[in-house]
Amino acid sequence: MWYKRSMNALTIVHETIKRVVRDGDVCIDATAGRGYDTAFLCELVGKNGNVIAMDIQQDAVDSTNALLESKGLCAQVVLDSHANMAKYAEKESVRCIVFNLGYLPKGNHGIYTHFESTKQAIESGLELLERGGLMCVSVYYGGDSGYEEKDALLPWLKTLDDEKYQVLATFFYNWKKDPPIPIFIIKN
Ligand code: SAM
Repeated sequence: MWYKRSMNALTIVHETIKRVVRDGDVCIDATAGRGYDTAFLCELVGKNGNVIAMDIQQDAVDSTNALLESKGLCAQVVLDSHANMAKYAEKESVRCIVFNLGYLPKGNHGIYTHFESTKQAIESGLELLERGGLMCVSVYYGGDSGYEEKDALLPWLKTLDDEKYQVLATFFYNWKKDPPIPIFIIKN
């Protein structure tokens, strides 16, 4: 197992993705936000790959495009809900899908992810993932976005068919204040 002295949700997710995504892969960032995960995925897939990034806020789309431009990277950044993910990729063609739930940092805290659309997006995304592909869902909750999504999502993820998927949830068990929960879903 890979190990770092100082781990957080971001390092755990990125270190895991680095072991899965290769040059030429197709990846989806389901919550583009400020574009950091989109840029990370673009660097891994290189010029031969393709990254689709989705967000419902123009602010996020603009930020993501600006970050990509500043780094000389390229992705298909779309202003759309991740619930419509199936419009943008073929079934079993995607190596990795990343979700960072919650609200846009330094943005409108009144707009955040909700269980119903997240569930729809995860279901679609699992169809799009290739076998052996990885979905990472980092659950950020508490504060302005509350607990509703986390409280519905965790029990629902437990119901995914264990013949088809492995669901691994990572808890920062002794952190005091609403630690994010990185969840990994591997398609068998
Ligand atoms: N990964 C991002 C980054 O690197 O900056 C941070 C993502 S932020 C925690 C969550 C984002 O999800 C917000 O930008 C928000 O607009 C977006 N979002 C909320 N509901 C969404 C939906 N239904 N479809 C796509 N994005 C959504």
